[in-house]
Amino acid sequence: MKNNPYQNAVKQLETVAKYINLQGRTLEELKCPKRVIKADLRVKMDDGKIKTFKAFRLQHNDAVGPYKGGIRFHPNVSEDEVKALSMWMTWKCSVVGIPYGGAKGGVICDPKNMSEAELERLSRAYIQAIAKYIGPFKDVPAPDVNTTPQIMAWMVDEYEKIAGKHEPGVITGKPVEVGGSLGRTEATGLGGFYVLEQLRKVRNLPQNITIAVQGVGNVGYWFIEFAKKAGYRVVAWSNSKGGEYKGKKITNEQLLELPVDILVPAALENQITKDNAGKIKAKYIIEMANGPVTPEADEILHRRGIISIPDVLANAGGVTVSYFEWCQNNMGYYWGKDEVFSKLKVIMDKAFGEVWKIYANAKRKTKNEKLTPRMAAYILAVGRVVKAMKMRGGQR
Ligand code: NAD
Repeated sequence: MKNNPYQNAVKQLETVAKYINLQGRTLEELKCPKRVIKADLRVKMDDGKIKTFKAFRLQHNDAVGPYKGGIRFHPNVSEDEVKALSMWMTWKCSVVGIPYGGAKGGVICDPKNMSEAELERLSRAYIQAIAKYIGPFKDVPAPDVNTTPQIMAWMVDEYEKIAGKHEPGVITGKPVEVGGSLGRTEATGLGGFYVLEQLRKVRNLPQNITIAVQGVGNVGYWFIEFAKKAGYRVVAWSNSKGGEYKGKKITNEQLLELPVDILVPAALENQITKDNAGKIKAKYIIEMANGPVTPEADEILHRRGIISIPDVLANAGGVTVSYFEWCQNNMGYYWGKDEVFSKLKVIMDKAFGEVWKIYANAKRKTKNEKLTPRMAAYILAVGRVVKAMKMRGGQR
């Protein structure tokens, strides 16, 4: 299969393994999820017929803490995709140093053609199928593509019915009314803004640098809001219908190739490929979407001296505030928005500093260093997980 995400994830892990001298059983273990849960969900549709949906929950690694990762509702969900995403969640949580492992869930369905009642029954059926494998200290699901705070509310309700008690920490991304955290909506965009500020600092960039943002959904919108407030010049933006640059209409392809200082893909995966990587004029890329740069494009950008801040770091603000939600649920004590934002800043700044240190040190040591910020982030993340596995010993 072309561009199989799981093969990409394994290839990345094998590259990191060379840098940190990781081999043998630990490496083999990290290539596969620890547990694969598959189910056929039988759901009553509005016309009275029963329809079967294929569902997955893949738990990759829990050496650092409970499994953590979203649930995707999409027609293209596949086991290999969920497998790759579960591994990437392990690295994402580890980069920002939050005490979680990685997992991911998915249901093959077309939510755009389902009624709200059908979606609710599907969400409840999914939880019934995986209930015994999840829990606040086992595995903590969250939203992903096409799954909303409302869906999380149905899911937590179903879980609590089965558990026979309140257990809000079992799922994050809930509406505030049922235990969600203030600041979760802004979290990913704000985390990206903190990364932008750190990048500016380490590269001595002026405050008035120009930025183009692809995708003004939840992530792009909040990134732009915070960046503008701080005095950055967001000169171009786009959505699925096209965009604007300095007041003129442009296509999405044109947006990616604009002469700006920083390009922020915040929409979809695979936007910068081997076909357009040679035409990118920005000096920096902040990957707010998941996987916006393909592995081939990554090499071309690196050769051209363009620095790309990887998704596992740049968009980790979302999972970090999910972690805050879980902390608040488990304590039963809730924070104000300012407290959430300031705690997020501490975590994002620290993670950026740690990744940048690995990247900059490697660059200093060798003239022709191949290490990218992405590889530096993976070295940090995989290294932490491996240490935890070794300290636990036994069969891990
Ligand atoms: P969203 O659905 O709110 O917004 C997506 C935006 O992308 C929309 O404005 C849409 O019009 C635009 N878009 C779609 N196709 C496009 C195209 N071809 N060109 C330009 N724009 C296009 O989604 P979101 O929550 O903002 O997520 C965006 C990305 O960030 C995704 O890759 C997601 O996986 C990732 N992400 C999101 C979060 C989060 O907390 N929401 C966390 C981590 C990563």
